[in-house]
Amino acid sequence: MEALALERKAEQNRELKERIAQLKKERNAIILAHYYQRDEIQEVADFRGDSFLLAQKAASTDADVIVFCGVHFMGESAKILAPNKTVLIPDERAGCPMADMVNVDGLRALKKKHPNAKVVAYINTSADVKSETDICCTSANAIKVIEAVDSDEIIWVPDKNLGDYVSKFTDKKMIIWEGYCNTHDMLTVKDVEEMKAQYPNAQFVVHPECRPEVVKMGDFVGSTTAIIKYCRESDCQEFIVGTEDGTGYQLRLDSPNKKFHFATKYLVCPNMKVNNLKKVVKCLETNGPQIYVPPHVADKARASLERMLQVK
Ligand code: SF4
Repeated sequence: MEALALERKAEQNRELKERIAQLKKERNAIILAHYYQRDEIQEVADFRGDSFLLAQKAASTDADVIVFCGVHFMGESAKILAPNKTVLIPDERAGCPMADMVNVDGLRALKKKHPNAKVVAYINTSADVKSETDICCTSANAIKVIEAVDSDEIIWVPDKNLGDYVSKFTDKKMIIWEGYCNTHDMLTVKDVEEMKAQYPNAQFVVHPECRPEVVKMGDFVGSTTAIIKYCRESDCQEFIVGTEDGTGYQLRLDSPNKKFHFATKYLVCPNMKVNNLKKVVKCLETNGPQIYVPPHVADKARASLERMLQVK
């Protein structure tokens, strides 16, 4: 019975993938998928990456239409960097709780309290918030960006865990917002200790969005892209992975003979998983939902993103 259901599902997915290929041609569209998307979405993607790589790809593509399979702020970054393209998202409900933990009013109030500080925003922020910041960063370039900023006082939004991690690499005063990623923050020391006991030969690779005490346990700490690269190039054959479960798709693709154990079964971002193949078909057929960023917000947010791109 279960085998029959699986067969039916596979057949459905085959049909949906064929339809997506046809629609992509008709609309001159490209599909960009974040590493945390469902496997079947990553399979149909023209390009897979983290939020920064995908935004860069959006800016450089010749396609007229971008289907952005990720969460809302990522679609916004794509639209900001590619304002003349149509940016579609398969499901409007795909938001990021961490990005929603900071808003413009709160940030303005903090800026007032610290008038000499420069605002560094993790790319996981809304376009509105980006437009109130001096420079953006990603988990891959955060330390370089902070060092490059022309101030010894930094307001950091929104992730307190990543903020804590980067603060260890700078002498600058960091005023850290109290946001966090619901998914990465769930991983505990106990989870990792249990996994290490179960897989003593595995290295623990961890994203700095996890809690500081968990990050401290890492054999390697880095962004999702850095973790993927590290696991691909490492001589080690077995890893305990401390980032979102969808990363397994690229890890297994790159290193089919290595073993990957996710540090808990809770490392799943429900927001990333609301997209599916049916919704990709529908958004291409109906040309919606589309991402819209008001031009006055986009211009200021773009300046913050472009300052980041200039940091070498
Ligand atoms: S994994 Fe965390 S930071 Fe990424 S989209 Fe989900 S909630 Fe936001």
